[in-house]
Amino acid sequence: MRIILLGPPGAGKGTQAKQLSFELDLAHIATGDLLRFNVSEKTVLGLKAQEYMNKGLLVPDDLVIQMLKERFMQADVKKGFILDGFPRTIQQAIALDDLLKNYNWRIDFVFNLDCSEKVIIQRLSGRLVCKNCGANFHISNMPPKRKGICDLCGGQLYQRTDDNEETIRKRLAVYQQESAPLIDYYTKQGLLRQIQADRSQKEVLEAMVSFVKCKNDCRAL
Ligand SMILES: [Zn+2]
Repeated sequence: MRIILLGPPGAGKGTQAKQLSFELDLAHIATGDLLRFNVSEKTVLGLKAQEYMNKGLLVPDDLVIQMLKERFMQADVKKGFILDGFPRTIQQAIALDDLLKNYNWRIDFVFNLDCSEKVIIQRLSGRLVCKNCGANFHISNMPPKRKGICDLCGGQLYQRTDDNEETIRKRLAVYQQESAPLIDYYTKQGLLRQIQADRSQKEVLEAMVSFVKCKNDCRAL
């Protein structure tokens, strides 16, 4: 089983990908983590990526594709995977399809976490991030036990400067523009499943699992 997770910032994509990979026993491939790993381990690809990052440039698609290629060769990926953070554009989706062809692999599902702007703003503008371990909390939805202190490591919590309403609206507009052709691309292939993601974490997870479990029936819908 190979799954792609799409969704705007604040839809809970990272958390859902982690939960779903656990639930379905699939490898969780987050391209953000993959990039950070390559950079911190100073791999050949990581060093190349670092050069772009030093110049304040985006890491080019072909470098990310090469990182994915190496990741796909690892044993845990044989059972299948959930891809989180890639593709973000239609060009990346086409490059991914080309890569998958080498293995005779195909994508089974593309879940699009569909979240209303109101809920995204509520989630992101109240988000608290731990300076030390990166854990996320929320001012009202998931407050830490002690104000301003991480439950997990005792680190200091802060609000990201780009987690304010105005910036969130801008980030969402950019996301919508980039992802619309991507959603269209996977819809045409019959792979896209809309998941209403204003609901609780558990309900969203259950919705995705039920699609996977009734795979054959749902395909006919
Ligand atoms: Zn922490």
